[in-house]
Amino acid sequence: MIERKIINKVEEKREKIIELLATLVKIPSLTGDELKAQEFVAAYLRDLGLKVALSEPDIKELFEKYPDVAQYPSHWLHDLILPYQDLPSYGDLVKSGKMDVLNYKNRPNVVGTWKGSSKAGRSLILNGHIDTVTVEPRDEWTHDPFEAEIEDGKMYGRGVSDMKSGIVAAMVALECLIELGVKLRGDVIFESVVNEEHAGNGTLACVARGITADAAIITEPTKNTVRLGNAGGVYWGIKVKGRSKPTGARWRGREQDGVSAIEKLSRVIDSLLEMEQKLNDKYRHPHIPDQNSFSMVMGRVHGGHYDTVTASECTLNGSAYFGSEVGSVADVMEYIRGAIVEANRKDRWLVEVPPEVFFLHHDDPSDIDEKEPIIQTLQSAAERVTGERPPLYRGTAACDMRHLINQGKIPTTVFGPGWGDQIHKPDEFIPIDSMVPSVKVLALTIYDWCK
Ligand SMILES: [Zn+2]
Repeated sequence: MIERKIINKVEEKREKIIELLATLVKIPSLTGDELKAQEFVAAYLRDLGLKVALSEPDIKELFEKYPDVAQYPSHWLHDLILPYQDLPSYGDLVKSGKMDVLNYKNRPNVVGTWKGSSKAGRSLILNGHIDTVTVEPRDEWTHDPFEAEIEDGKMYGRGVSDMKSGIVAAMVALECLIELGVKLRGDVIFESVVNEEHAGNGTLACVARGITADAAIITEPTKNTVRLGNAGGVYWGIKVKGRSKPTGARWRGREQDGVSAIEKLSRVIDSLLEMEQKLNDKYRHPHIPDQNSFSMVMGRVHGGHYDTVTASECTLNGSAYFGSEVGSVADVMEYIRGAIVEANRKDRWLVEVPPEVFFLHHDDPSDIDEKEPIIQTLQSAAERVTGERPPLYRGTAACDMRHLINQGKIPTTVFGPGWGDQIHKPDEFIPIDSMVPSVKVLALTIYDWCK
């Protein structure tokens, strides 16, 4: 029986899977520097017999076609990120003077197609991003980020979980089916995209070029759950101004003269947290009642110069994640601006010197109906492999799912090896044992969907 053959074939590849993952981890592919790893993936797919195309995203085309969702190209060096007040635009990118680094030269997407035998067959996209976040803070790693060291059943490295494991899982699933001589009626399209981190333009470019299918699976790490959607996200910054005065000049008699931006920041923080509470009281995920709808993350704060001088300026950077029931990106930007207005209303200084709000990135939320056939097919394959039906879950951070669903109109879910809760950190790892089961699930899903 074919199902047994597929399972056995993946089992035979156990060592090969680990080796391939190690090889890919050893080719650094930080955002902005994806070429070498993409060439490796392209060569691998060609060897499997797929028709392979490399193409660089066209940033001008993306802004023209999708003005509300296209983002500035990004880079692992985060001080290259361009802020914007309302929406990013191609004109502002050109004006920034950073086009010589923030572009897609030598940053191609790789798309491999395994042609099916009939137009009547159902087609499937497998999508993954090759780029990884920075290795900073580098000195907090106890393993080399690019050596794929294995210890106690875990492989360590930047991108090992997010998401070279998912790319390898999809490639080996295809390899197994091809080696078994399986004939599929529908096309399988494998996309290894650039610049998912902090942009999403790689997948957006695939959609813009008209690459489509009857369903898509992104193989980001899901810890054996199947994604029903993803939260949207907004990265924001708030700059608060003060009036700098040394200790002796802070008070003029009973009148306060020295105003620390830091003491005023606390008003802004309180207001943002109140807004978070209100939104969580008001909204619930329609199908998963114990999942919250809104998260306000305060990530970094920077400001002041000296212990004895009131800070003239400070900046708080953070992000907000939200389910589609809360609203759109534009709604959330408005909530954030509203929270600042609310803080200002209660403080004389802030009325006079209002904080400046800016944004650095935004992602729309996306959802898929649990009755979509791809969800059933994937859950059923996972149940046959692991003995358990994987739970449905909404991702708490954004991923490229939004572009495949919102712009591409492709029913899309996320399923892949590894855990999402330790990515982007020093000592990123993957439990090696999570690889083989997910390759089995993916291989069975491809077969069931496209046969
Ligand atoms: Zn990822």
